[in-house]
Amino acid sequence: MKLTRFRIKQDICRICGKCEQACEENAIITNANKTVEIDYKRCNRCGRCLEACKLRAITKEVGLFI
Ligand code: SF4
Ligand code: SF4
Repeated sequence: MKLTRFRIKQDICRICGKCEQACEENAIITNANKTVEIDYKRCNRCGRCLEACKLRAITKEVGLFI
């Protein structure tokens, strides 16, 4: 169970790749269908992707996540 997670808003994301470059865990994946996703099995909740996204397409959510 996790208390925070980061989420990418697909309607704001412009697939610039900056969050993917910033993620040292290789947890951000650009799919063939042009969506950017976070692999929560790899993500360590460091927040670098959120800081890297100048469009504010990444949000931090607080709650209980499995
Ligand atoms: S940095 Fe922001 S706009 Fe760029 S790919 Fe990541 S979420 Fe999308
Ligand atoms: S919070 Fe950190 S580990 Fe998780 S996707 Fe963002 S940069 Fe990668």
